[in-house]
Amino acid sequence: MPLNIPGLLSPFQLLWNPRVILPHVIIADIRQLDFLALQKAGYRGAIFDKDNCLTIPYKDSLVPELQDAWKECREIFGEGNVLIAESASYHLSVPVLQHKSPKPAYSCISGIRAYFSSLRNPIKDDELVVVGDRIFTDVVMANRMCRRVALSAEVSKRGDAVSLRERVNGPLAIWTNGVWQKESMVMRYFERHLVDAVCRWTDSRSHLAEFQKIFAKPVPLPNTSEGKKISIKRLWSILWKKER
Ligand SMILES: [Mg+2]
Repeated sequence: MPLNIPGLLSPFQLLWNPRVILPHVIIADIRQLDFLALQKAGYRGAIFDKDNCLTIPYKDSLVPELQDAWKECREIFGEGNVLIAESASYHLSVPVLQHKSPKPAYSCISGIRAYFSSLRNPIKDDELVVVGDRIFTDVVMANRMCRRVALSAEVSKRGDAVSLRERVNGPLAIWTNGVWQKESMVMRYFERHLVDAVCRWTDSRSHLAEFQKIFAKPVPLPNTSEGKKISIKRLWSILWKKER
């Protein structure tokens, strides 16, 4: 596997912007994503990571358990508005962005923007969701695409889906932290603890809980895997528990 230099360097961005690693929504897998709620909020396009998000790592077929959710996603957004950002070609019925630089490189971001702005109905950054299983690639990339904006008191106070999208002012970062096949488990352990620590340190829990409430389906799915059990526990501790 080639060395992901942009991914390796992204932790340094934590020094001046710790929130760059915080996902807006945490789910075990895409079955917990409320695609209709995303659409109602104004999201029109999606970028997906492939390995351990949609497929077993280095395989090109969808994990069977995700068939219905993947179909729903493509029906709601439209197949041309769903993109897989990978460095190789796969057959998941949506376009694949073949980028030379790995996520979260800015050249990869440029490729994504070029694709969505070339559509007949161009899609802006704040109409996108980025879904992936790794913090330092997928989540950091989504947050790098956000622009800081001074929000009006009215938008900050509202808690509806559209106002949440306006608050982000860029792609919604969705972290899938269930794993279909064990891979980089030490790094994943580190990522989970780091997200937890930054969440507490930046006092972001209540802010992120609003996103979780609207865009994630709250009911745990049956047939939970080890990853999913961790996820529910993590969700509880990160987003809902007031004090440890
Ligand atoms: Mg992945």
